[in-house]
Amino acid sequence: MSRWAEAISKAGELPNYLLIDGQKIAAESRDQIETFDPGSGLLLTAVAAGKASDVDHAVQAAKRALNGPWATLAPKARGRLLWEVGNRIRQDIEHLTLVETLDTGKPFNDAKATVERTADYFCYYAGIVDKLEGTTVPLGPSKVCFTERVPIGVTGHIVPWNVPISMVARGLAPALACGNTAVVKPAEETPLSAILLIELLEAVGVPPGVVNVVPGHGEEAGRVLSEHPDVRHITFTGSIPTGKAVMAAAATHLASVTLELGGKSPHVVLRDADLDVAVPSILTGMYKNAGQICSAGTRLLVDRPIHEEVVDRLVQGVESISLGHGLDNPVMGPLISDRQLASVAGFAQRARDRGVTFVTGGDKAQVAECEGGYFFTPSIADNVSPEDELGTAEVFGPILSVIGVDDVDHAIDIANGTSYGLAAGIQTKDISKAMRFARGVEAGQVFINGYHSAGDTVPFGGMKESGIGREKGLAALDAYCEIKAITVTF
Ligand code: NAD
Repeated sequence: MSRWAEAISKAGELPNYLLIDGQKIAAESRDQIETFDPGSGLLLTAVAAGKASDVDHAVQAAKRALNGPWATLAPKARGRLLWEVGNRIRQDIEHLTLVETLDTGKPFNDAKATVERTADYFCYYAGIVDKLEGTTVPLGPSKVCFTERVPIGVTGHIVPWNVPISMVARGLAPALACGNTAVVKPAEETPLSAILLIELLEAVGVPPGVVNVVPGHGEEAGRVLSEHPDVRHITFTGSIPTGKAVMAAAATHLASVTLELGGKSPHVVLRDADLDVAVPSILTGMYKNAGQICSAGTRLLVDRPIHEEVVDRLVQGVESISLGHGLDNPVMGPLISDRQLASVAGFAQRARDRGVTFVTGGDKAQVAECEGGYFFTPSIADNVSPEDELGTAEVFGPILSVIGVDDVDHAIDIANGTSYGLAAGIQTKDISKAMRFARGVEAGQVFINGYHSAGDTVPFGGMKESGIGREKGLAALDAYCEIKAITVTF
């Protein structure tokens, strides 16, 4: 038995069911989806694949739960329950991390950080439950008008595979804080942690039916959830085409949407930047999670006088990135699937065919002991034209595109030259230039001298085709409450 087969068997029984109304059940059709360890290509398990009838079953359970014990819990008690979810996640962190490492291929420590973040989301939103206050509106001497924040109803959560457990939590925790109920549809590639997470919620006392999980294919379970007339809000994280389909489906019954979509985020380095700060920031901002992060800084806009030095330092940094199975805790793990590997390799091949030069990487990688894994080398494509496919399209893999710029204004022009607007970064000691960039760039988050430095309590979301609405922080709550205005005449 290989090391990885042994590790998989040691992970114990993996969850392979739908979780509806507190019951672990198979899909009505008995269909299943296989999920694999990206580090070895070995089968982990086959998970129930929900279809229309299963989604309807889950939505009806969530609808009933809206008027059950969940509705009568005092805000303080609901807050305590969410806090307890956070504690329970921390107690189970080793097992959750192991399962998430096996299902996603992430380096173990990175997977652990995402599980910690999951606990943090529940604790953060636990604190807001008894502070969701309304306002009063002055209407004259014989009237009183006040507003209340009331739950929106059943919420649907459709999640991608790149950071599965914490992306479920970042939508679910504020939805529950506001008193809603939910149906979660995890990605086909990574269904396991969502099921385990919802089991923990129920273990600490969240009533059955408040959160239901229906793994399944996007075209079936995801589509049916988006168009279900009893779902009042859909929180979707994924690609732009799917986001548009979800929004169109939600529009059939005028459900609201939060859409967290793709990015091609610019990271600018001006000639006065401290390169000892900038270079590590470019590397982690780009290669974390093997580049499979929507807000990764994938377009490096480098001031021409320092272009060569920056690229030299980056090549050195990239060539010291260790590749390996997540359980060996390398700097970089595999891509999520053979399909994603083929997609990234396709970007590299097409770029080469157009004459783009890779100064390092650009190929699939062979990793000892990981023959069946989906590895791609951390790669840098230099002197990319801003209009090239590598300058405009999201690769969702470890390819950095380097583009030369003349100054900060040129950088702003190029930064804004795609249909995306998720994140942006700049490295400079000149605060005026940094602020000119921050104000001028079309992006939902901007990082000055520290890419990805904001953390999980800061509103996150995209402009333009990168999305609609904000997750994280207090801003996320707006999606999950209706405001009801009550006027009393006396
Ligand atoms: P995807 O759009 O293919 O799938 C995302 C989810 O949508 C999956 O659960 C899938 O099953 C489901 N789905 C697929 N078709 C559907 C349909 N017709 N109706 C409803 N649901 C459907 O995206 P992906 O390839 O899994 O993820 C990668 C994309 O996600 C990238 O573009 C990336 O930038 C984006 N992403 C964005 C963020 C963010 O916060 N902005 C975070 C992570 C990933």
